[in-house]
Amino acid sequence: MRVFFLGTGAAEGIPALFCDCSICTFAKQSGGKERRTRSTILIDGNIKIDLPPETLAHVHHYPQLDFANLQHLLFTHSHDDHFAVRELQYLSPNFAPSRKSPLHVYATNQLIYKIVSETEGFFERAPLMLQSLMPFFEHEVGTVSVIPIIANHKRDELCLNFLISSEGKTLLYACDTGWYDPQTWEYLSTRTLDAVILECGKGVSHSSYEGHLSVDEAIRVRDRLLDEGTLRPNAPFYLTHIAHTGLLSHEEMEKLVIPCGLKVAYDGLEIQI
Ligand SMILES: [Zn+2]
Ligand SMILES: [Zn+2]
Ligand SMILES: [Zn+2]
Repeated sequence: MRVFFLGTGAAEGIPALFCDCSICTFAKQSGGKERRTRSTILIDGNIKIDLPPETLAHVHHYPQLDFANLQHLLFTHSHDDHFAVRELQYLSPNFAPSRKSPLHVYATNQLIYKIVSETEGFFERAPLMLQSLMPFFEHEVGTVSVIPIIANHKRDELCLNFLISSEGKTLLYACDTGWYDPQTWEYLSTRTLDAVILECGKGVSHSSYEGHLSVDEAIRVRDRLLDEGTLRPNAPFYLTHIAHTGLLSHEEMEKLVIPCGLKVAYDGLEIQI
């Protein structure tokens, strides 16, 4: 399975739209891995997780993207950095006349209602095949199988992380998560993971917000998965969904976490699992 990190930033990106803190200023000057758009990944070129507002900018930036033929889009939850649902209007024949097939969209029932109500008002109907995701059930998504698990990220909504399996390998994409409830930990203990991509929205800040993980908590997640035999030893473990308010540059975060066995994702990174 090939994973392309199109975006690895938290809600407001780095540098953030309206911020000149030291992390944002450093990112502006340095560019490269220090700059982060909102989090989204692409699997095997054709299965996308989440639709951040800069999706068009990603298409412009990476000429290898072929979203004219994108077949599958999964949503984790409805925060604006993941769910720019009104961009789906540009799938309609008026805006994409050469497109031949509908886009398969997978989300919880709650999000499907939102997608239906948002897309009803479009000038022309967008060709969407909506499919509802059930936690802890296996769903076929193109060439991969997906099992949604329950994150602990937003009190008024069922937020999902995904176990994505292909050719005998399983990836956990956990963005956004918070600390899992016992039900999710119990489910994970029955699985084997070959790679993990985990959010680290709080960095080294002392934020009391419970919907994201700090560096210390991310290390505890990895340790627990290893202790329970869920994570294969030496399996790649990447941090993503990184915020300027986490108070670390990319370089600083790498220095902190690499000795603990974690890696830091960046926009444009491609990995093979
Ligand atoms: Zn987010
Ligand atoms: Zn900032
Ligand atoms: Zn979120």
